[in-house]
Amino acid sequence: ERAQAEAVAHEPALTRDGVRIEVAANVGSLEDAQEAFRRGADAIGLLRTEFLYLERTAAPTEEEEVAAYRALLEAMGGKPVVVRTLDVGGDKPLPYLPMPSEPNPFLGVRGVRLSRQHPDLLRQQLRALLRAGAGFPLRIMFPMVSTVEEIRWLRALLDEVRAALAREGVPLPEDLQVGMMVEVPAAALLAEHFRPWVDFFSIGTNDLTQYVLAADRTNPAVAGMADGLHPAVLRLIRQVTAAVEGTGKWVGVCGELAGDLQAVPVLIGLGVRELSVNPVRVPEVKAAVRRWSLQEAQALAEAALAQEDAPAVRRLVQEASA
Ligand code: PEP
Ligand code: MG
Repeated sequence: ERAQAEAVAHEPALTRDGVRIEVAANVGSLEDAQEAFRRGADAIGLLRTEFLYLERTAAPTEEEEVAAYRALLEAMGGKPVVVRTLDVGGDKPLPYLPMPSEPNPFLGVRGVRLSRQHPDLLRQQLRALLRAGAGFPLRIMFPMVSTVEEIRWLRALLDEVRAALAREGVPLPEDLQVGMMVEVPAAALLAEHFRPWVDFFSIGTNDLTQYVLAADRTNPAVAGMADGLHPAVLRLIRQVTAAVEGTGKWVGVCGELAGDLQAVPVLIGLGVRELSVNPVRVPEVKAAVRRWSLQEAQALAEAALAQEDAPAVRRLVQEASA
C-alpha cells in the first residue's frame, strides 16, 4: 500500500467527492525542501527559518538570506512556499540577540514579540524575502501572533519594506500572500478580527494544544495530555475556519496533528484545506485524504466537536474508518 501511495503522491489529493486538499510539507533546510519535492508535496506549508539564524555568532546578512530563500523557492519548482519569519525566544536563544532569561519562556518574549523588540532584524528578513520572491508564489507568515494590534503593526512594517524596495526599483513578487499562525487561543477565538489583515491562517497545533491544555510541549510528564484531537482544540480550529467561510481566504494546519492519519478527516471536515506535514508523510496523508468524502468528514468533525476528550475523538474516527 505504501508503494502505491508513493506512486500517486505527485498527483493532487482530492476527497472522494472531488474537494482539493493541499498537502504541503514542513521544512527547515534546503535538503528538507528537496525531499518534500521528491515526495510530491504540493507546496511548502511551513518553512522554519530558524536554521538561518541558529548556531552562529552573528546574524546572517541580507545577501545570505536572499540566496537561501531563492534556493528554496527554486527547489520547489514554482510551487507555493510559506515562509515563517524568525520564531525564537527564551527557549531558543540567539547569541547575538540579548534575551533575558525568563521563568516561563513559552509565555514570554518569543516569535513576533521578539521581532518587535528587534525590528531591524525582521525588516531585513522581509526585505530578503521580497527580493528573493520575485517571480515565485511566495507566502509570508508570522508566528505567535496574539493581538490584532500586532498583525496591524506587522502589515505596516511589510508595507514600508515593500515601498522602499519599489522606490529602489527592485522587482517584487506579484502574487504575494500574507498570513499568520494561529497558535495562541486568543487568536483563534477572535479570528474574524484578524481576518482583514491576512490572506490565510495556518494553525500551529503544537503550540495551540500546549496553550489550550496548559501542557508544556517539552515536558514528557504531560505529553499524554497534549493531544491536538482534544475537542477543546478542535472547537478553536472550527472558530478559525468559520471566520473565513465564503471569503476566499484559506486555513491550513502545520502542527504535527496535520500528519496524524486519524486527524486528517476531522480537520478536513472542520474546513481545513491545507495540511502541512513532515515531508516523508506526504504520500500517506494524500492517501488518507482520498479515502473520505467531504460529507463523511463533516459528519465526523461535527461528532468530534461534541466529545469530552481526545481518546473519545480517536475512538470515533476508528469506528468511522472501519
Ligand atoms: C506549531 O506550533 O504547531 C508549529 C508548527 O510551530 P513550531 O512547532 O515550530 O513551534
Ligand atoms: Mg509554534
